[in-house]
Amino acid sequence: MAKTNGKPYPNLIGGDWKAPSDNVLENHNPADYNEVVGLFPMATLDDTKSAIDSARAAQPAWSKTPAPARGAILDKASQILTSRLDEIATALTREEGKTLAEAKGEVTRARDIFKYYAGEGWRYSGQVIPSSVNDELLYTRREPLGVVSIITPWNFPIAIPAWKIAPALIYGNTVVFKPAEDAPHTALLLVEALVEAGLPAGVINFLTGDGALIGTEMASNPSVNGITFTGSHNTGTKVYQNAIKNMARVQLEMGGKNALVILKDADIDLAVKLAITGGFGLTGQACTATSRIIVEEEIADAFVSALTTAAKNLKVGNGLENGINMGPLVNQDQLQTSQSYMAIAQKEGAKLLLGGEVDGAKGYFAQATIFDHVQPNMRIAQEEIFGPVISIIRANGINDAIEKANAISFGLSASVVTNNLKGAFAFANQVDAGVVKINEPTTGLALNAPFGGFKGSSANTFKEQGGAALDFYTRTKTIYVNHG
Ligand code: NAD
Repeated sequence: MAKTNGKPYPNLIGGDWKAPSDNVLENHNPADYNEVVGLFPMATLDDTKSAIDSARAAQPAWSKTPAPARGAILDKASQILTSRLDEIATALTREEGKTLAEAKGEVTRARDIFKYYAGEGWRYSGQVIPSSVNDELLYTRREPLGVVSIITPWNFPIAIPAWKIAPALIYGNTVVFKPAEDAPHTALLLVEALVEAGLPAGVINFLTGDGALIGTEMASNPSVNGITFTGSHNTGTKVYQNAIKNMARVQLEMGGKNALVILKDADIDLAVKLAITGGFGLTGQACTATSRIIVEEEIADAFVSALTTAAKNLKVGNGLENGINMGPLVNQDQLQTSQSYMAIAQKEGAKLLLGGEVDGAKGYFAQATIFDHVQPNMRIAQEEIFGPVISIIRANGINDAIEKANAISFGLSASVVTNNLKGAFAFANQVDAGVVKINEPTTGLALNAPFGGFKGSSANTFKEQGGAALDFYTRTKTIYVNHG
């Protein structure tokens, strides 16, 4: 069965584990692409339809299971994730590339998300509304949407599935889940934890393979009631167009081009720390990564010099090794994208201060790269790179800085570094982004707060995470009871 030395892993359809046939998806280690870390099924269209049918068949019984009992399964899954934290984090680093410390942080996040939504089973409710007539009880009931398709990217291969799957399940939906081609193993380990925790057959179905083939069916099948997608803007647009044919509910979270704005009164050491974390943490492969730094001219030279010195010390290498600050990019395409933007930036006239090179001999490694004197209309200031490339844009005053921060088609995350309360609030109120930070990195989110972008970063329909997830994963029924 296996074409190479990788271990074969299954899909899950209607409670049955389905091993790969001859047609497999090879999953490689981005730090050493000769290592095949696993072979996954290339699910067919029939597999996809049968996964959706299984989810549909399992939904009535699952929605009738009391919510606290559903929560108990999520809680058990959370405990299983805790007991396997090191194993899952290692698998994550091996297929996605981020450092082991970053991977452990992500698995911990997934565990906490399951714990949080397990508790939701005891809490969520509808409303009792004051009636305008006598002897009438007027109330609302939150009901599950039904079958939810979950399509996720590779860059947070357990946290993003967790923040979609946990609320889908707690509110009584059944799920068809398709992870990205580059990180199916971590996703499978999450599904295994749910099955081991006691999730009934058909409540979660897991498919791997060709994203366009499986994903198109998952978005357009009339038995699917809701589609939640995180990924690129291009793919998200296709998902929306397919879903709208059935008037299915859609949630899309997509790319970013996030700005860290540094005002002239900022603590430069703090600004450097936030720039390194947001720009080079996770190898720049976060939707909320700092891609642009907009700094007031008065302190620009001092900041740029301190940032360049700090970034020089970052050690790039295999994320499983000790002392590595930045793992590889996830695949050849990502490597080429970073490399091509490094060339485009120089052609456009930006000044290269650090890095600018990639090393694809064994894995997909890119240097921490900084460009100065970037103009807001340059391609590197406008387009998502999704790699360790920071563009410095200089600004004259806070209004110019905010204007430059807003001069993009995305609106995911933005941060300001300042000691000035007035500047901080002016920024928070005027910046066009769904997540705003003050003296914090553009990356990093609270699991119990609403998350979602503005403009081209999102479908701008429903927020994710925390209590906000209730709105996407349930429909509201209004009930009038005349008891007179
Ligand atoms: P991608 O769009 O290439 O793929 C995302 C998912 O869509 C994958 O599972 C893929 O297999 C699937 N897919 C591919 N073609 C499809 C189709 N025609 N129909 C349905 N599904 C299809 O994105 P990626 O490269 O995996 O992830 C990187 C992107 O994700 C970046 O743009 C990043 O900013 C974004 N992202 C956004 C957030 C957020 O919350 N806003 C978080 C993480 C990543």
